[in-house]
Amino acid sequence: MKPIETEVLVAGGGPCGLMLANELGRRGVRCLLVDPKPGTAFNPQANATQARTMEHFRRLGFASEIRALGLPPDHPTDIAYMTRFSGYELARIRLPTAAEAVRNVKSMGGSWSAAELPHRVSQKFVEQVLLRHARAWPASDIRHGWKLESFTASGDEVTAVVRPVDGDAVQVRTKYLVGADGARSLVRRALGIEWEGETGIARDFMGGRMFAAYLRAPAFFDVMKHPKAWMYVAVNASRRAFMASVDGVSEFAFHAALRPGEEADGWGDEEARRLFAEVVGAPVSAEVLSTGTWLAGHALVARSFGRGRVFIAGDAAHLFTPTGGLGYNTALEDAVNLAWKLAAVLRGQGGAGLLASYEAERKPLALRNTAYARRFADSVGLFQAKPELEEDSPRGEQERRLASEYLGAHARLEFNIPGVTFGGRYDASPVIVKDGSTPPPDQPNEYVPTASPGGRPPHAWLEDGRSLFDLFGPDWTLLAFGDGDAAPFESAAARCGLDLAVVRLHDEKLRALYEAPLVLIRPDQVVAWRGMSAQAASAVLHKVIGNS
Ligand SMILES: Cc1cc2nc3c(=O)[nH]c(=O)nc-3n(C[C@H](O)[C@H](O)[C@H](O)COP(=O)(O)OP(=O)(O)OC[C@H]3O[C@@H](n4cnc5c(N)ncnc54)[C@H](O)[C@@H]3O)c2cc1C
Repeated sequence: MKPIETEVLVAGGGPCGLMLANELGRRGVRCLLVDPKPGTAFNPQANATQARTMEHFRRLGFASEIRALGLPPDHPTDIAYMTRFSGYELARIRLPTAAEAVRNVKSMGGSWSAAELPHRVSQKFVEQVLLRHARAWPASDIRHGWKLESFTASGDEVTAVVRPVDGDAVQVRTKYLVGADGARSLVRRALGIEWEGETGIARDFMGGRMFAAYLRAPAFFDVMKHPKAWMYVAVNASRRAFMASVDGVSEFAFHAALRPGEEADGWGDEEARRLFAEVVGAPVSAEVLSTGTWLAGHALVARSFGRGRVFIAGDAAHLFTPTGGLGYNTALEDAVNLAWKLAAVLRGQGGAGLLASYEAERKPLALRNTAYARRFADSVGLFQAKPELEEDSPRGEQERRLASEYLGAHARLEFNIPGVTFGGRYDASPVIVKDGSTPPPDQPNEYVPTASPGGRPPHAWLEDGRSLFDLFGPDWTLLAFGDGDAAPFESAAARCGLDLAVVRLHDEKLRALYEAPLVLIRPDQVVAWRGMSAQAASAVLHKVIGNS
């Protein structure tokens, strides 16, 4: 068969690969995506889309579509800690419903000044939207039932072998290959890239083997007497577990910690029902949709994020313990970061340094985020649940008071994380022009908006009700406040072939928020430079596109 010619071959159609296909497709980059699965994920997988990821979905035009999925709009998105799901409630953090998130975001300030708030939705639904939009780009060729088998990279292209299920191998000639092929990444292994960090971290909960079951159990609400939540966490001495509501009606993603000596590899529906009833603390009928096991306790980051024309991204490049819900969100941000750089270099609008900046920017972020996830896992997983917690006695009451205090504080640490989601920065990046300012400290639960180059631009709602971010162009944006002279940037951008949108704003408050009359924003909505004058426009653009 004739070789397939493309510009970017993406191995893997999880959230990372599908986001790459969207970001490349909208820029007209030819992209072939292969994945051996018949379609998007069947299992719910990750359950939380962080606010920064929602802002990226908004930039791509489908945040509202995603927010309409998962739980009904008025379903609580609380996290509730209970001894067992039919037992005592110990602690609860209340979070806005999807409908409230849309209303509230317009009046929120400080740490939560944002275009979008988080959304509690299973990855399986997000993947369906990502796939539909990726397919709509004429430049994308998405093939389920196909897998990457091997590849060799030379100076100016990559030759790969892909194969359809039950079909003959086909050669692909591509300029770049991205391995978004998950934890067991063939691409990472073929490049000989090893993990660094820690794995096998042991804890009572979120450290060790977990048994997962995707359940349909509408009867759950007959035995769970507390208000509905999005995430139910069981805290007792015999079986720790968490369970996310998938549709708010009947479907649940149930994950139980296995006890030492329990061998669950051969477990199926019967064991799923047994563990579910044990954690609920009452018999409850359930249809088992799928089961599996997984290991909690990873904090692993690949030593490098690629070699030459081959890159790795998402779970192929980092493995998390799911506390904080950071694995899938970090995977999506890898795709956002890498895609515009690939497009720029393929179109001659980026220099040699631009692709190298992918690892320089994303590896420190992966180390930061895996460390946050680990800290959250220690906080909840090292809490020792005593048997007395479930006792109907004064001692039991006292234990529950102590647990309530501890878990309440833990919930605020893990689930109110504007600092984690908005505060990721690329301070050491070779394609950011630093201005000598010191960004605010990195902390999980607080985010101080700053336009110090290297981070997310501060967000604001405009007087006409629009989000400032909605004014940004599809690629580069220059914010020009008051009399800020944009002309030198416009001509320098034209010379480099960059698509630069100039946004002029006469708003003193915004000018004060950004602390400069001119601010250059990258295609991934990161501040690349800010300054008092445009005199050095040419030199700035050369640096931010990796030409110097
Ligand atoms: C049961 C479970 C529960 C989870 N819960 C959470 C959670 O609560 N919070 C959270 O943040 N994260 C969670 N995660 C992790 C989260 O799902 C991942 O971080 C996320 O899916 C990473 O996306 P990805 O696209 O990088 O990789 P994946 O989603 O793993 O996608 C990789 C894709 O590559 C494909 N592939 C593999 N080999 C090849 C090949 N040779 N050629 C082509 N394609 C290939 C696979 O079929 C797969 O579709 C969970 C994961 C699992 C399995």
